[in-house]
Amino acid sequence: MVDANTRGVLELLKRSGNDTCADCGAKGPEWASYNIGIFLCTRCAGIHRGMGTHISKIKHIRLDRWEDSQVQRMREIGNLVAKAKYEKRVPPCYRIPTDGDHDSLLEEWICAKYLREEFSRPERQAFMTGHMEGFLMKRGKEDPKYYPRKFMLSEVDDTLKYYVDEKKDPKAVMKVSEINVSFSPVKMEKKNSFQISYLKDGTTRHIYVYHDDPQTIVNWYNAIRCTKLHRLQIAFPTASQAELVNLLTKDFAHEGWLWKTGPRPTDAYKKRWFTLDRRKLMYHEEPLSAHPKGEIFLGNMMDGYSIRVGVPTGVRDQGFSFTLRTPSRWYYLSAENSFDRDVWISVVTAVLEQPVSPQDNTSI
Ligand SMILES: [Zn+2]
Repeated sequence: MVDANTRGVLELLKRSGNDTCADCGAKGPEWASYNIGIFLCTRCAGIHRGMGTHISKIKHIRLDRWEDSQVQRMREIGNLVAKAKYEKRVPPCYRIPTDGDHDSLLEEWICAKYLREEFSRPERQAFMTGHMEGFLMKRGKEDPKYYPRKFMLSEVDDTLKYYVDEKKDPKAVMKVSEINVSFSPVKMEKKNSFQISYLKDGTTRHIYVYHDDPQTIVNWYNAIRCTKLHRLQIAFPTASQAELVNLLTKDFAHEGWLWKTGPRPTDAYKKRWFTLDRRKLMYHEEPLSAHPKGEIFLGNMMDGYSIRVGVPTGVRDQGFSFTLRTPSRWYYLSAENSFDRDVWISVVTAVLEQPVSPQDNTSI
């Protein structure tokens, strides 16, 4: 039995902006925060509940009882009005999570919006100062243990450094404008983590870090993005903001095990961990290796790059095989099953279809 007030709230769902979750954009919200005045999906409603009722009061749209004043508040506010208030000053470099994104990105987005009100009070945005320093847990290069390491980010110098011993020189100095950061890749098995990839002496080096506190890791992540944007704006003054934002950081398009054989027919297939990072396909001995064993640049299909099912006659076929052709070499690969193979072919094809942009050479 649906009473008049519930009907009133259901009617409000039809208004523009109210048909998707106010925080992640998922379709068909089933919950509402009746003090903030917004409609939410189940996942975001759970995060709101976690902030406490002094911040957000949650009700189910259909299953809970609505009082007149609560319906009135929902009518007065709604998702669009709330967005104008709570997202007024979201910087373009901030990664706004969407439906299905990482837990910590979504939780921090919601806490930053309503609990800390960072986007209506920009002086609270720790990630926008162009400088950050503190300890992150970093995985050892050769061993799987994580150690506390001091990290330092400087927009003025375009550097991200880390120290094993603060009194000595930094262990690594990375150019922020050239690094990529992949947020919380599944293989790390840590919720508040990221992988930094940078070029060292012409080859890629990976660094794996995490922090117990999600706010710390998300602030670091967005601080790196904001520093990158400001540096890219200097390097490419005529590029549009949207183009540059697209270059900030990219989670890996795909990762997983494949078998790869060498160029000679007698070469054996070896199991390798493949990572597709924008236009770069890397293969590693282990998922958390510090260096790839090889890196393949993926250009445009008009320039001699292609990928197709199977291997040429004369090449050993291990099953679920496919061939990646580049102008300099053909790579013979084998997946674990046909589903995996099809996913790899589709994600690589999507890259080969993209035109190569001038910024592709300067960003990993
Ligand atoms: Zn949501």
